[in-house]
Amino acid sequence: MEFRLYNTLSRRKEELRPLDGKTVRLYACGPTVYDFAHIGNLRTYLFEDVLRRTMEYFDFRVRHVMNITDVGHLVSDADTGEDKMQKALAREQLPPTVESLRTLADRYTQAFLADLTALNILRPHVLPKATDHVPQMIKLIERMQQNGYAYETPLAVYFDVEKFPSYTALSGQKLKEKSVGARDEVEVDAAKKHPADFALWFKRAGKNAGHVMHWPSPWGDGFPGWHIECSAMSEQHLGFPFDLHCGGEDHIAVHHTNEIAQNEAAYGERTVQLWLHGAFLDLGKAKMAKSSGTFVKLSDVVERGYDPLAYRYLCLNTHYRQKLNFSWEALDGAAQALKRLRRALAELGTPAVGCAEHEEHFAQAIGDDLNTPQALAVLWEMLSDHSLPGHAKRQSVAQFDRVLGLGLGETVAEEIPENILALVARRQEARKKKDWKESDRLRDEAAAAGFRIEDTTDGPRVEQKT
Ligand code: AMP
Ligand code: ZN
Repeated sequence: MEFRLYNTLSRRKEELRPLDGKTVRLYACGPTVYDFAHIGNLRTYLFEDVLRRTMEYFDFRVRHVMNITDVGHLVSDADTGEDKMQKALAREQLPPTVESLRTLADRYTQAFLADLTALNILRPHVLPKATDHVPQMIKLIERMQQNGYAYETPLAVYFDVEKFPSYTALSGQKLKEKSVGARDEVEVDAAKKHPADFALWFKRAGKNAGHVMHWPSPWGDGFPGWHIECSAMSEQHLGFPFDLHCGGEDHIAVHHTNEIAQNEAAYGERTVQLWLHGAFLDLGKAKMAKSSGTFVKLSDVVERGYDPLAYRYLCLNTHYRQKLNFSWEALDGAAQALKRLRRALAELGTPAVGCAEHEEHFAQAIGDDLNTPQALAVLWEMLSDHSLPGHAKRQSVAQFDRVLGLGLGETVAEEIPENILALVARRQEARKKKDWKESDRLRDEAAAAGFRIEDTTDGPRVEQKT
């Protein structure tokens, strides 16, 4: 089975072949832990989870690294504004100390991990923290400087984008379109050579004079830029070159463009095979923003009574490279579909062998650039195929759920309470003894409790009456 993925850099689908012939090395940009994740962020982590699960489904070994950014991500990706972590201290009424920054980072790292668990997202194998990798970042910047790609001003060390001719290869933009950094209320370094030059290292000077987290470096006390963090952590935990690098589509034009420039300026060769990007989730026209009340967290979804996996279903039902317009009505639809799916499963018997043809169609769907909407369609088609025994369908569903992660294996017992299952077992006993009167009585007792029992060639089927 061929497994193809869309590479943002080459703009075509390419077959996945691990560089070392054994293990796919995957780096995904992780959260900046200054606040809760919103459901847009979670859509991107869900796409990366489906990617990992699909690779494992196809028997690839995977090493999945996701960074935790706990310093250096400024409010604007164009190096302006305050450090997001530091800004959050005021919101949380914490004093500006290293200790409170660590408290903040721990708090939101735990919240992030809880979101992953609730959504059945497999935990990355390594979750490195930026603050633990500053020496590696300094080394990379030194290499770039030695190779002539970095320059120093009184405020920072910058990457010189004009020295790197393929700088805009990932985004396809023209360099002159990238006149970033001139807006916002904050200081722009007048000594920058090109507006798109980006900071590798911020000195503790100018607007950053009071930056709480700082480390000694060859350029004086300061802190790393956000982009260098991902270059250093991917190099440290996966080694260059590695196979896959993922993130949301907003990372194409700035963050990943800058990572490519840094890696290649330091090492002079391509360091990542495939670049994958998930499309955004938005709320109609509104951007996910705190100020306008459009910042939806997973806890908001749960507070409104939804199963978090209904949100997972909603995301699976749109291809990861298509925009997803979130609405509560759409989430209602996903919740209903997941309920129906669980009901349909409750009717199937115990696992035996699977449905080979449907399994093949499923593999074709996910093998074609993670086509999860098509994979869900295969699942529904299989369930409505009356030529197949229930136990075989159940076996295939268990396989499919290795990728879908909708908890379909665990849901049947939840739907049918213990006392009803006991009643069904007693009825089976009665039927064995040909005690039809008792059997009918037990069926009526189940019906009175809201459950329908039907006898099929696979044994009794129990269903909650709607
Ligand atoms: P951040 O914490 O802002 O660095 O974002 C974490 C991840 O979420 C990154 O991969 C972003 O590209 C992604 N992301 C941010 N906003 C959205 C959104 N509205 N929809 C989908 N992904 C997003
Ligand atoms: Zn990153």
